[in-house]
Amino acid sequence: MPLSPFQFDNSYARDLPGFAVPWQPATVPAPHLLFFNRTLALEMGLDPEELDGPDGAAIFAGNQVPGGAEPLAQAYAGHQFGGFSPQLGDGRALLLGEVIDPFGRRRDLMLKGSGRTPFSRRGDGKAAVGPMLREVLIGEAMHALGLPTTRALAVTATGETVHRERALPGAVLTRVAASHLRVGTFEFFSARHETDRVRQLADYAIARHDPDLIGTDDRYLGLLRRVAQRQATLVAGWMNVGFIHGVMNTDNVALSGETIDYGPCAFLEAYDPDAVFSSIDHGGRYAYRNQPPVTRWNLARLAETLLPLIAGQDSQEAVSEATLQATGVIDAFPVWYEDALLTGQRAKLGLHGGDDATDRALAGNWLTLLHGQRVDFTLGWRRLADAAGGDEGSLRALFTDPQALDTWLARWRERAGSEGNTAADWTERARLMRRVSPVVIPRNHRVEEALAAASDHGDLEPFRRLLAALRRPYDETPEQAGYATPASAEVTACYRTF
Ligand code: AMP
Ligand code: MG
Ligand code: MG
Repeated sequence: MPLSPFQFDNSYARDLPGFAVPWQPATVPAPHLLFFNRTLALEMGLDPEELDGPDGAAIFAGNQVPGGAEPLAQAYAGHQFGGFSPQLGDGRALLLGEVIDPFGRRRDLMLKGSGRTPFSRRGDGKAAVGPMLREVLIGEAMHALGLPTTRALAVTATGETVHRERALPGAVLTRVAASHLRVGTFEFFSARHETDRVRQLADYAIARHDPDLIGTDDRYLGLLRRVAQRQATLVAGWMNVGFIHGVMNTDNVALSGETIDYGPCAFLEAYDPDAVFSSIDHGGRYAYRNQPPVTRWNLARLAETLLPLIAGQDSQEAVSEATLQATGVIDAFPVWYEDALLTGQRAKLGLHGGDDATDRALAGNWLTLLHGQRVDFTLGWRRLADAAGGDEGSLRALFTDPQALDTWLARWRERAGSEGNTAADWTERARLMRRVSPVVIPRNHRVEEALAAASDHGDLEPFRRLLAALRRPYDETPEQAGYATPASAEVTACYRTF
């Protein structure tokens, strides 16, 4: 076996034969690293010196399969915009293998854009530079914001042209994930009535993500509960940073609780719960405000696949009982979600404990205020932190009608003041609030500008500068300031993602 920079331990290939198709990446003409994530490499126990160069480029482009890798295309299905597609699968991606980092965490190493596979249908199996660099920017931003996410280890230009609505430079993304188990993976086997395989998959998921459930009597219900709890935390995190995923199909819901698939996602600018940016989301199914109920719907699809396992036997009574139990979990999701949301909102409001209903109303009224005056979501929260620190002017400047703000501010000052009202309390409160309300997020116009420079002109400088800013989202320094400014309302109004 050739020497390998990775110590692979490929549990998916080993434990789940028949759940994927062994496959090789396509060879590309001119691999060249556009991005290498040295921080992530170190975190994974990899040697950046070995990989950040031509050898790494050959691996990350798919030209050189490293020793120990067992590339495979995973099978999965999915509900896309509500309709079931029984066969999706890795149509342009390959799992190279799994690496265990120095902390003992197992992570998938996946190539995306590595050529056609048996799941490609009519697709070309390829990816373009712009969308792959987009995954880097948004993934690193989400990570810096403390949200669970898949991350980019590398982006390699291929030297090929890919044909979309126009000719674009090609690229391969190397994605790192806690796993690529999706709700859609369960649906694939469930739809084929392969209950034994659904059970194998569930046992695998439990071993990988919830090992404390191994051997417990109600482990399949336990798995459903854990997945639902992770999704509740994740989606509450999205809502509190104004993230709109854009394509929450069940094949894009990871059992690990990480955000996956940065296709048509976007961040809110002016606060509008109905915001939708995706050009294909005509009905607004995945609008900002729909993300929690859609997640619940997606979890119900997972629950359906697990019913035979939860029941344990075929009898009518057992299945009815399992349905009741699973429904209990699905019904608990909104409660877990609301709790996670409130925890995040309290931190952003500078509050600790207190009466839930009072604090929910305070947060709700704040959002209504932002909505009514079309205030930038990110800056609204950040300038509230500044107001706690004594600078109310920057907050007031965001509002066209400061009178409505004053009424709310008086209530907030009273509520927050009840937890400490000295000058020192307010200074400390402002410090904590600034740690949870970022000043830099991936502004849509900034992301587009950086990607256009890279893709159209081969100029990676705007991308690098933006990435550096996104990695320090809470720091307000002069260099960061340019990245904090919203686009004009006209630009935001026409912004569409693809
Ligand atoms: P997504 O919308 O990115 O979640 O992808 C949905 C499905 O389409 C997955 O099965 C992908 O593998 C597949 N797919 C997306 N783009 C391509 C492509 N260029 N070639 C082949 N399959 C693709
Ligand atoms: Mg996807
Ligand atoms: Mg995608």
